[in-house]
Parts: sequence; C-alpha cells; structure tokens
Amino acid sequence: MFRSARIKLTAWYLLTIMLISIVLSLAVYHSSTFEIRRGLYRAAMQDNAGRLHLQLPHGSTPPPRPVPNSLFAGPFPPPPPGFNEQLFAEQKQRVAMQLGVLNLGILGLAGLAGYLLSGRTLKPIEEMLDEQKRFVSDASHELRTPLTAMRTETEVALLCNKLDPADAKEVLESNLEEIGKLQLLADNLLTLGKYEAATYKLNVANVDLAEVFEDALERVRPMAQARNIELESSINSSIVLHADKEPLTRMFVIFLDNAIKYGLENSKVIMSAHTLKNKAVISIQDFGIGIFADDLPHIFNRFYRVDTARTKTGATGYGLGLSIAKDIIDLHHGNVAVTSTPDEGTTFTVTLPHVFS
Ligand code: ADP
Repeated sequence: MFRSARIKLTAWYLLTIMLISIVLSLAVYHSSTFEIRRGLYRAAMQDNAGRLHLQLPHGSTPPPRPVPNSLFAGPFPPPPPGFNEQLFAEQKQRVAMQLGVLNLGILGLAGLAGYLLSGRTLKPIEEMLDEQKRFVSDASHELRTPLTAMRTETEVALLCNKLDPADAKEVLESNLEEIGKLQLLADNLLTLGKYEAATYKLNVANVDLAEVFEDALERVRPMAQARNIELESSINSSIVLHADKEPLTRMFVIFLDNAIKYGLENSKVIMSAHTLKNKAVISIQDFGIGIFADDLPHIFNRFYRVDTARTKTGATGYGLGLSIAKDIIDLHHGNVAVTSTPDEGTTFTVTLPHVFS
C-alpha cells in the first residue's frame, strides 16, 4: 500500500517540477531565439548598409530598418536580404537540443529526489499505521485470552451430565475473574483512547500537590496493607500546580500501584516532592524486584510487560498502566525518568512545570 502511495506521490512531485521546468524552458527558448534572430538581423542590416553606402551618392545615408529590441515589442519585420536563415535554423535547433537535454536531466534528478522525499514524507504516517496495527493486534490477543478461558470452562461444564452446585459455583467464580480482567482491559483501553484523542482537553486549575498525594495514597492503601508495605510521603513545601487533578491523581495511582505490585512484601514505598526552578520534581521509590536494563527503554510502550518468568512474579496487568501515565505527563508538558536496579528497587521521577509555591 505504501509502495503505491510513494510512487503516486513521486509522480505528483515529478509532474509539478516538470511543468515548471517545461514552462521555464519555453520561455528561455523564445528569448534565446529572439536574441539570435536579432543578432543575425542586425548583422545582415549592417552588411546591407555597407553595400548601400558604397552605391549611394556621397552624403546621403540609407533609411534604418526598425529591429524590435524586446520580445514584446511587436513582430519582426520581414528578413532583410542577406539574413542567414540556415544559421538561424541551426542555432534554434541547438538551443532546443540543449534545453531538451537539460529537461531530461531535471526529469532524472527530480524523479530521484521526489522518490526520496516522498519516502520521508510518508515515513511518519507508515510508522503510525504500523503502531496502530500492532496495538489492534495486541488488544485482540489480550481480549481473546480471557474469552477462550471462559468458553472452555463453560463448554466443559455443559458436557458434564450431572454438574453439582459446588462445581457450577467454581466455574461461575472463575468466569467472574475473567470478566474482571476483561473489564480492566476495557477500562484501560478506553482511558488510553480518551487521553490520546486529539480533541481531549485538560480541565486545568490550581491544584495542591499534597491533596493529590493524599487522594492517590488513599486509593492504593488497601493494596499496600495486603502486602504489608508501608507508604511514606513527603513534600518539602506547599506546591501548587497548574494541572488537571483527576488525571494527575490517576497517574500517581499507576506509579504507586506498580511500586506495591512489584515491591517486596514488608518493604516500603516512598513518594516525595520538591520544587526546582519553577518545576515540581516528584519521585516514587520502591524496594522491589527492579527492572532489567534492556527492558527499561520499552516499559512505557503499550502492552509491554517484562517477562514474568524472569521476574518470578505472578503480578497481573496488561502493560498499559505506564503508557497511560506517560500520556498524562505529556498532556501536562512534563517528563518522566526511571532508574532501577534488579533485586533492589525502582525510582520513577516525574517533572511537572507551572508551579506556584
Ligand atoms: P502492568 O499492568 O503490567 O504493570 P505497566 O505499563 O504499568 O503494566 O508496566 C509495564 C511493565 O513495567 C510491568 O509489566 C513491569 O514489568 C514493569 N514495571 C513497572 N513498574 C515497575 C516497578 N515499580 N518495579 C518493577 N517493574 C515495574
């Protein structure tokens, strides 16, 4: 598809350049042949004048024949005697040949440049479409897994002639678990779609960062308690951001959720903030399994999950959390950095602009 689009675009570039080149060449041809003709005309007239001068009585001069001095100064008068028609035809042919060769060169060069340029023009669109395709195929794959599990369990249960209530309950419970996963996936996909929509606008207001910290910590507290992880938070002064509170809280919940999920039981998670040159610098630090250096560049990609066999965790997720967090940071014109040491822990550092402290 992109090959034919590239060829079409090249053809359009070529057509435009060649049209310009042909129009310019015609103009050059006309002005050059005009000058050649004028030169030959003058030469013939001077010749004639010399001859007439010899024949005329002493003191009288021959009447001058008018020669147009510009392309637009009217038509040439009929050629005077002695006008070298053959030389004129040869010169005209020579100019036409030179312009033809020049146009052929331009055709070749413009074709090559057009092909390269159209490749460059289409590359970002091609990459975007590839990513979109990958996203759809990853999402379909993630949707199919719980659906297949539910279908298999239901079919096996239906094949059983005498399904006792305990077994039926077990099947329903398992299906409910899969439905929960599907719901989580659908929520994540909708959230991602919302933040990535071109029409999405933040509802910006002055937001107290301490309040956002409190809300986010409140939402993850039950999970932290279940893993006996202590939540510590510190802000060195009152920081007010120009931001949208809801997505901002969601972003911190994602980082905290991961810090607890991938943190070691009985460890702690530290969330802290300080200001630096009109910016808020917020870090979320855990003491957990860490992330391998070769996974670090990819963790913000959609559906990217570190191989659970390598990390030996049963933590579930779809690899969409960090993509959503990154979208929220981008919407706030901030940035995020991550440092991690396997088996020691991970620190995410988010920098957000527009601080009034
Ligand atoms: P998930 O839902 O799988 O957690 P995320 O997008 O939030 O998806 O994270 C992507 C991957 O990055 C995770 O699968 C995990 O392997 C890794 N990761 C994220 N945060 C941490 C962390 N604090 N410690 C260790 N690994 C992490």
